[in-house]
Amino acid sequence: MNFNIAIDGPAGAGKSTVAKIVADKLNMTYIDTGAMYRAITLLSIQHGKNDVGDIINLAQEVEIKIHEKYIYVNGEDVTEDVRNLEVTNKVSAIAQIPEIRVLMTKLQREMARNKGVVMDGRDIGTAILPDAKYKFYLTANVKERAARRHKELIKNGQKVTLEQIEKDIIQRDRQDKLRAFSPLAVAEDAAIIDTTEKNIMQVVQEILCYIKRGEGFVL
Ligand code: C5P
Repeated sequence: MNFNIAIDGPAGAGKSTVAKIVADKLNMTYIDTGAMYRAITLLSIQHGKNDVGDIINLAQEVEIKIHEKYIYVNGEDVTEDVRNLEVTNKVSAIAQIPEIRVLMTKLQREMARNKGVVMDGRDIGTAILPDAKYKFYLTANVKERAARRHKELIKNGQKVTLEQIEKDIIQRDRQDKLRAFSPLAVAEDAAIIDTTEKNIMQVVQEILCYIKRGEGFVL
């Protein structure tokens, strides 16, 4: 496809699951930008770095590659490691460092340069790809988002309570929305989809219908 799709929204709104299916159906490339911030966070934990300057240095030297659903840091597959709880709870603090965002912006724009990407994140429609042809903002109430995350983590064998997840999500939303540099926000030309009462395939269909109308073809 000769266009890009931006999918933004808060944690647990269903962005990545939906974005992956949409990309598959349209034969486009899925890019999970959250995984990129998570990769820097993982690296800082592995190197025991907490100082902002040290973390920026790490980010400047690291090689991050995304291939299909996998993310590699300096050649190592960290797809599963970036999703652990320690990374999840630290990532928003690292994602608010302007220098880190500048580095990620460059990488993400490079990945989208030839079009044909479905990119999910927080600032894709507003800051990374303001010219994306299709923009969606997925949201859901916090209870539903916490319940989805809880289910996913329990399935992966992690021991967490629903209350803790809800608290973490509220905290992460706050950090993502209030940061000074490219915060989580709805792009003015984005279609807002509330996924609270919808299943994955309903949301996928809604997005595909929207694009179908825009492109004037049957998908
Ligand atoms: O999407 P995911 O939950 O994996 O994102 C992890 C974190 O990375 C977010 O909470 C946010 O702090 C940061 N992020 C960001 N900008 C993006 C994608 C993710 O700041 N485009």
